[in-house]
Amino acid sequence: MKFLRVLAVLVLCFSLNAKFKQGSIIVDARAEALVTKILERLCKANNRKSTPKIYFIVDDSINAFATDEGSIYIHTGLVMKLEDVGQLVAVLAHELGHIIGGHIHRFRGESMGISAASIIGTLLGGAAALAGGGGDALVAGILLGQGAAQGQFASFTRTHEKEADASAYRTLQAAGLSASGAIRVFKYFKKIMAFSEPPYLKTHPSDDDRIKAFENYIKQTPDTGFMPEEWVTEFENIKAIFIANLHQAKDADKRYGEKQSPDAMLAQAIILSRRGQHKEAFARLDALLAKDPNNPYLYEMYGQFLLESGRANSKKSVEKLKKAVELAPNALSIRLLYAQALYNSGTDSNVELALAELNRITEEDKRNAMAWLLKVGIYSKLKQHAEADLAQAEYANITGDKKLATSRAKRASKSSNDRVKKKVKLLEDAIKEDA
Ligand SMILES: [Zn+2]
Repeated sequence: MKFLRVLAVLVLCFSLNAKFKQGSIIVDARAEALVTKILERLCKANNRKSTPKIYFIVDDSINAFATDEGSIYIHTGLVMKLEDVGQLVAVLAHELGHIIGGHIHRFRGESMGISAASIIGTLLGGAAALAGGGGDALVAGILLGQGAAQGQFASFTRTHEKEADASAYRTLQAAGLSASGAIRVFKYFKKIMAFSEPPYLKTHPSDDDRIKAFENYIKQTPDTGFMPEEWVTEFENIKAIFIANLHQAKDADKRYGEKQSPDAMLAQAIILSRRGQHKEAFARLDALLAKDPNNPYLYEMYGQFLLESGRANSKKSVEKLKKAVELAPNALSIRLLYAQALYNSGTDSNVELALAELNRITEEDKRNAMAWLLKVGIYSKLKQHAEADLAQAEYANITGDKKLATSRAKRASKSSNDRVKKKVKLLEDAIKEDA
């Protein structure tokens, strides 16, 4: 199922930032936006109306996999190690090929007692603790259950892999995009594979076979050679953001410290902020904003750094994040950060605004655990104890702590507020259904 499984040790030249646990899901609106844009184009070429949801998993190995729920999981190692966006596009087209081919569905019955649904349950149960009160806005710090999630729940046959490759080529052609990235990916695999022979080779077609197949496709219907310029540059930016956040600061600095390109400036801003050199970090962001004044993700990053740099900056943080939300109104993770900044600023009117924003988020995304967690804090502060209990019950239910969910729901049910009681009833039914 996996695009490939290269063990991290083979290519791990940097050590990771300990703040980000292996296997946790990270939320990054900017990376999500690029990958979603690519997938929308690929799906449209296949006349598919819905676009898979994207999750990024902190894992330095190069991997991506699709699930039968129509989600695609991307290891951060894939983004950090691929050389260009054309390769990422090819990987996504391949994963989409597994979804379109129904490989995952067909496989499901054979899986080793772990259904895809339960794995996704685990993942979403987790995709939560963004910022966790500490302000680590990029991270949702949840581990995948038992390491089972990624590895075990499917491994495709050679036939499926060939089908997914063929489908990827057709998709890329129909989307008017170059397929040459696929050849570059396989050549890259071959290069890193030269050091060892991971078990995956037994079930996968060899890289040589896959390269040959793509060369043949291109012979039959010539490659367009096209890749949107904005994807090319945005990929570099996202790669820089991931490396600057996920690797040790000194390693990231080695790579980006001296350069003046926009991706290097972004990386420098993150590294400086990580080192507590806030003034210098803000100077980098000001320079980037001067050239790209309507970029929501620059405002997001600015607001995040301000939020992390201490209480004195909380008002400024609210301003930057408000602007980010205006520029990217659909990005839930930015709105969540905005709500957090409003809450941190401490003024009564901002706390009310934070609550309103969080209510909108949970209406759109009922399983947004972090939004529920922030609501617990706000309701407690407002001394609305039944609402706080209800929010905590929702949070506990999503993160899999049924015992806590049940006890908090029971406490909230004693409320004299009918609206709260009604919501408790719905939650209690949901807890029972899940059990
Ligand atoms: Zn595959």
